[in-house]
Amino acid sequence: SVIPDYLDEVLRHVEPDTGGELAGYIPELAAADPERLGAVFATVDGELYGAGDIDTEFTIQSISKPFTYALALADRGFGPVLAKVGVEPSGEAFNQISLEPGTGRPLNPMINAGAITTHALAGSADLSPAERVERVVHGLSEFAGRRLRVDDAVCASEMEHAHRNLAIAHMLRSHGILTEDPSAVVEGYVRQCSVLVTARDLAMMAATLANRGVNPRSGVRVAPEPVVRQVLSVMSTCGMYDAAGDWATQVGIPAKSGVAGGLIGALPGQIGIATFSPRLDRHGNSVRGVSLFERFSSDMGLHVMEVP
Ligand code: GLU
Repeated sequence: SVIPDYLDEVLRHVEPDTGGELAGYIPELAAADPERLGAVFATVDGELYGAGDIDTEFTIQSISKPFTYALALADRGFGPVLAKVGVEPSGEAFNQISLEPGTGRPLNPMINAGAITTHALAGSADLSPAERVERVVHGLSEFAGRRLRVDDAVCASEMEHAHRNLAIAHMLRSHGILTEDPSAVVEGYVRQCSVLVTARDLAMMAATLANRGVNPRSGVRVAPEPVVRQVLSVMSTCGMYDAAGDWATQVGIPAKSGVAGGLIGALPGQIGIATFSPRLDRHGNSVRGVSLFERFSSDMGLHVMEVP
């Protein structure tokens, strides 16, 4: 196959770009190796092609949000989830304390307010906080096709600086969007963000979305088709923080980024793509990850609005 050579070539092209900064607000993340760089393609037929650092573990961070949204929709149904979390792009930063006026409902599941609520909606209502975390880690693992684990050091480091997320959770509690103890929900959400993945895992997770909710390697159905359609739709409008519009026009692939440097894209019926490079632009998206996706999209005509 020519794909590995192509990936090597594109990686070499973006490698010299040292623009951007490591995420600074979680001390453990600021200690990451900024030079790491990898990219993986996982097709819906179960083929996998990678180049660079594809087996280096890093924390999933916000890339957990679309998958946990899928779990909440699958576990509770659309009605109860939509009643608590909207689907409107906010055009604001991920940690903006913005709730819909009147209802207090988070605008969408990709900003922290929505993702904290979504975490609380994964699994049945009567789960303990620890059981809910296990539901989420198990679900993320099924998307990846292997058992994933939590990085306790990153989790503890983020919990020490979680004041903003705690404030958001208390706001949600005051509006009755959250009915649980806000600090337990934030702790669970931070554990969810601290799940360790590789670029290979993320590509498989994206490929599971691209493959209508069935992991292409394990054959396990992880989410129902209507749930996957919902998740991909929200990724395409809200997946890239406040750069979602630039992304939709220039790359045109439903995507989600995380502050540890991961980035996924899922093209329905075709392919899951993941990149890893820790330095971030001012929106919080991986600088070299965005460049890689721009190349992939234009070289292979992957923009969803383009007729193949
Ligand atoms: N754990 C991070 C937070 O809630 C996730 C941020 C991200 O990846 O955007 O602040």
